[in-house]
Amino acid sequence: MNTTTDALTVTARLIHDEGEHLARNYDPLPVVVSSAEDVWVTDVEGRCYLDLLSAYSALNFGHRHPELVAAAVDQIGRLTLTSRAFHNDRLGAFAAALAELCGKDLVLPMNTGAEAVETGIKAARAWAYRVKGVPADAARIVVAAGNFHGRTTTIVGFSDDPLARDGFGPPTPGFDIVAYGDAGAIEAAINDNTAAVLIEPIQGEAGVIIPPEGYLRAVRELCTRHNVLFIADEIQSGLGRVGTTFACDREGVVPDLYLLGKALGGGILPVSAVVGDRDVLGVFRPGEHGSTFGGNPLAAAVGLRVVELLGTGEFQERATALGHHLKGLLDELLGHGLTEVRVAGLWAGVDVEASRGTGRDVALRLLERGVLVKDTHGQTVRIAPPLTIQAADLGWAVEQLRLVLQAP
Ligand SMILES: *Cc1c(COP(=O)(O)O)cnc(C)c1O
Repeated sequence: MNTTTDALTVTARLIHDEGEHLARNYDPLPVVVSSAEDVWVTDVEGRCYLDLLSAYSALNFGHRHPELVAAAVDQIGRLTLTSRAFHNDRLGAFAAALAELCGKDLVLPMNTGAEAVETGIKAARAWAYRVKGVPADAARIVVAAGNFHGRTTTIVGFSDDPLARDGFGPPTPGFDIVAYGDAGAIEAAINDNTAAVLIEPIQGEAGVIIPPEGYLRAVRELCTRHNVLFIADEIQSGLGRVGTTFACDREGVVPDLYLLGKALGGGILPVSAVVGDRDVLGVFRPGEHGSTFGGNPLAAAVGLRVVELLGTGEFQERATALGHHLKGLLDELLGHGLTEVRVAGLWAGVDVEASRGTGRDVALRLLERGVLVKDTHGQTVRIAPPLTIQAADLGWAVEQLRLVLQAP
């Protein structure tokens, strides 16, 4: 027994003990969650909080959505893992439903978002060599400044965030970084060896950065014209968050590859996928790519239920309606502690006036008032409640933000 921690609260003790044996690659807010239902989470002291982060949109359907839990529990009672060495009786239905949701031919299932991004990069390179005719090892991919596509060595190598990138080199070659929101910059970076343009239709980790209207259409058009793949990382922006199934839908644009993750696992387990047509995703040959857990029957059962929930359109409608409501409430705080408000569906990035503290300060003060949010890049706070949230709860949460900004 460590006597120095005896006098601490349960929360402080658990945080202290966790730190003894946990690598410090995160700096969590000081709350220890022990249970949750829908939009509410409860900590070890019995305090309740409204979840306005939703695990970075992995909880779009709320915590423990009954139908998703039922799908998982039912599947756990029958079969959880086969590996792709064998077929399982769940994967086909999931692939068919997800392909239909995306309007594409093929699905390549993985687990985490970063794996979906890696898969998209490999697909684009193989397509460049085998279909487009790019010389071996010369393929290039155009990416955007401010991007966040995950944490693998290849992905952080084309990040322009020093915290993500520095210390983990050498970076994988083959990427060209251009300004986000500027289609002309993408076009200028394209050459005969360009395989793909990889962008987030709305940049999430950068602070919910919404590109100028017409950007996605212009990217689609120039990719087609230059015979370059358009890869949309919809891992955070997709699956209902912005009021449409995909953020690309906002401009009526269809990319060559969708990268999906986060909410695809229904808040229960990691499920990701790359979705595209046969002429692109068909480039993989057996044995060239895979994952032990990718496409496991438990993931497929939950993922299928997620696709079915999205098929009703209910969550997209809620995100649209509640998003308008949220924008109205947040706009009232402009000049009263907020310097900028960016809203897409039920997803907001707000910039905090420096005099009111940092984004982290605001997140800490909101925590005391029973609201969970996460800061990003200094002055920004991100708001992404489960799409199941009630308007009244959203209103209460923004009222807490107003109070926190009023009295730093
Ligand atoms: C979260 C995220 C990823 C990485 O997903 P992980 O499951 O954390 O690997 C990739 N792209 C975007 C846009 C994301 O938001």
